[in-house]
Amino acid sequence: MKTFALAGNPNCGKTTLFNALTGSTAHVGNWPGVTVDKREGTYKGGSKNISIVDLPGIYSLSPYTPEEVISRNFILDEKPDGIINIVDATNLERNLYLTTQLLEMDVPVIVALNMIDEVEKNGDKIDASALEKALGVPVVSVSALKGTGVKQLMDRAAAMPSERKGTTVLKDSLSKQLETACAYYEAEEVASPLFHAIKLLEKDEIELERKGATATLEKLGEEDLEAVIADERYKYISSNLSNAKVKASKEVLTKSDKIDKVLTHGLGNSHLYRNSVLYFPLDLL
Ligand code: GDP
Ligand code: MG
Repeated sequence: MKTFALAGNPNCGKTTLFNALTGSTAHVGNWPGVTVDKREGTYKGGSKNISIVDLPGIYSLSPYTPEEVISRNFILDEKPDGIINIVDATNLERNLYLTTQLLEMDVPVIVALNMIDEVEKNGDKIDASALEKALGVPVVSVSALKGTGVKQLMDRAAAMPSERKGTTVLKDSLSKQLETACAYYEAEEVASPLFHAIKLLEKDEIELERKGATATLEKLGEEDLEAVIADERYKYISSNLSNAKVKASKEVLTKSDKIDKVLTHGLGNSHLYRNSVLYFPLDLL
């Protein structure tokens, strides 16, 4: 039976989706050594049953909280057949920050664009296919609460190829260091070399404990790149992914509409009138 893990930010709707997928098959345990709930269950709605693991809610794959370490180690060590990355569509940019990190691992990823009902309630839209193109992995709009899109999500998840090479949105300014770090992990035949290479550039404390990490780090120079990398992720999201959001068209006023409005209703501001000449506020002109 294939195993898919649910990963996403806290409050993105992971538990709601987990319950919709697994119904009464779910059981709750603990992750080893910590008092963080581990929920597992079986999705029986497709042609083959799929085991579902609900990972703890996280904003990042850094080593700073037990939840982050659990999620990261589960994906790297247990090698699930895929990650269902739940993204709160009402908070797209912040949620995609985690997505950019998950994509760096050698694991199939599908994005569940959750809470799409909330987005559409305001008349807004998200262009899932534009997002899919930009990310290079399937993106399916769902409402875990209402159950819409869930079957389609799981059908596409089940149809994903069983392997995927990690990809990154980190570009030019880091390419030299990334190449050096990747070359090391590839030579060592480490799985998810790209993910490990980026963690090394971040001087990630878990990564530094790995064999050969400090020696490789010496070749990369002393610069602490953690903040640079975070910044690159946000820049990529705002310039390449944010445009998938289609806002409901608000009342768009042309310049002459605005002038008409002023003339009809006045601005009530006497300083606009000087020597009988009407001065428009600058932003109208
Ligand atoms: P988790 O922290 O990721 O496990 O999130 P939960 O599943 O507990 O959901 C957080 C909140 O979002 C709850 O109030 C849910 O009812 C709500 N929620 C989850 N999915 C959806 C959805 O698709 N649409 C809407 N409108 N609300 C949702
Ligand atoms: Mg939860």
